[in-house]
Amino acid sequence: MKTRKTPRRKCVGCGEQFDKRNLVRIVHSKEEGVCIDLTGKKNGRGAYICKNIDCFQSSVKKNALSRALGIDVDDDVSEAIRKEILGSKWKKVFFWIKKEYMK
Ligand SMILES: [Zn+2]
Repeated sequence: MKTRKTPRRKCVGCGEQFDKRNLVRIVHSKEEGVCIDLTGKKNGRGAYICKNIDCFQSSVKKNALSRALGIDVDDDVSEAIRKEILGSKWKKVFFWIKKEYMK
């Protein structure tokens, strides 16, 4: 039986590869600045990250997010993204994914 392959991307936090659908895309564009790309279709430099706040935080700590986006992710930017991740509907997804990881 053939299993359908979906594109895999590397998480900038933990460095593991995952199914694209299980990652969050963060995009940096000149027009909009840094934002979370829920559609996966925005223009700009993107970084993929697990739907997991721990990976986000380690990507900031390691400077991996800055490198991937080609900008300096300072405290203001990272705080804004963090708030967006935690404050949005992603929170539920994050929780669900965490449970999946623990299986
Ligand atoms: Zn990760």
